[in-house]
Amino acid sequence: MLSSIAKCLCGAVKITANEINPKFTVCHCDACRGWGGAPFFAVQCGTNVEVEGAEKVKMYESSPWASRGFCTECGTHLFFKFKKSGDYNMPVGIFNNLQGLKMEMQYFSDQRPDYYCFSNKTKELTQAEIMAYFENAL
Ligand SMILES: [Zn+2]
Ligand SMILES: [Zn+2]
Repeated sequence: MLSSIAKCLCGAVKITANEINPKFTVCHCDACRGWGGAPFFAVQCGTNVEVEGAEKVKMYESSPWASRGFCTECGTHLFFKFKKSGDYNMPVGIFNNLQGLKMEMQYFSDQRPDYYCFSNKTKELTQAEIMAYFENAL
């Protein structure tokens, strides 16, 4: 597990994550690609997360089970948060100096468009496999 601080572009929001899993996930789902204009490179941060400048964080409920947070000043995407568990998934690129990162998994591989592909060797899950996997967690 890693510990690091994430900052938005304007610096109004600072997030300290104390339990970051360096094996990150790329999500190709329509919602993630619509949100960021590209697949979401997400590190799992669990619940041991401290947000400074929370009054500048706007939450958008993107599904019945999760919300997405962004900075109201600069628009930086800050996190995807599961309602039930309170777990944070955060964009890998907003952290400083994360060591030992490894692309471990690709979610919604069946929604990945054909205009890009990664050469990383990873595990993959389709939408049906993810729904089955998370049935009890959501
Ligand atoms: Zn900002
Ligand atoms: Zn997604």
